[in-house]
Amino acid sequence: MARVFVITGPSGVGKGTLIRLLREQVPELALSVSATTRRPRTGETHGEDYWFLTDEEFEQRVAEGDFVEWAEYSGRRYGTLRSELERCLARGVPVVLEIEVQGARQVRETMPDAVQVFIAPPSPDVLRQRLIGRGTDSAEDVARRLETAERELAAHDEFDHEVVNDRLEDAAAQLARIVRESLGGTLAGA
Ligand code: 5GP
Repeated sequence: MARVFVITGPSGVGKGTLIRLLREQVPELALSVSATTRRPRTGETHGEDYWFLTDEEFEQRVAEGDFVEWAEYSGRRYGTLRSELERCLARGVPVVLEIEVQGARQVRETMPDAVQVFIAPPSPDVLRQRLIGRGTDSAEDVARRLETAERELAAHDEFDHEVVNDRLEDAAAQLARIVRESLGGTLAGA
């Protein structure tokens, strides 16, 4: 039985890095590529990092019911395409969604069996430093993301599991443990 894993938490907390490490440890995991209306950052590829859509394209796909969940975040829209999820589940492989908190709440309603993991920073200050330090977003965007992060951090106890991303290797190991335990004997060869 394939399973859905939702990895959520504030921007800058290290969800992407943790998921990369998780997939090295549990290679069967597929990653659902989200759609977004934000512009690609340097080095990001259409269809790999995101499906980059125009506002009109996104709107149309919302109207057509193509999203499992979607949310507005920092003035842009982000969503999980049903086709992405179904492509992974049809192969019988467990799938990871990396999404913000509003989307995670929607998935909790529509897919109550999905395993939800909240990634937390060791402190709000550390999150601030990481968001500023990674240098991928404008100062205005960083400010907006930090404001949103306050609300997101307050939601941490809504989730099945919480992993504090202090030492990266420890957090990655904890995440892999949660995933392996949830998959139980369903992994190939297990
Ligand atoms: P970023 O612009 O930094 O790539 O992403 C901003 C936020 O949107 C992050 O918290 C990221 O996890 C979240 N996000 C990425 N894809 C999706 C999605 O498909 N749905 C939702 N709800 N959030 C997403």
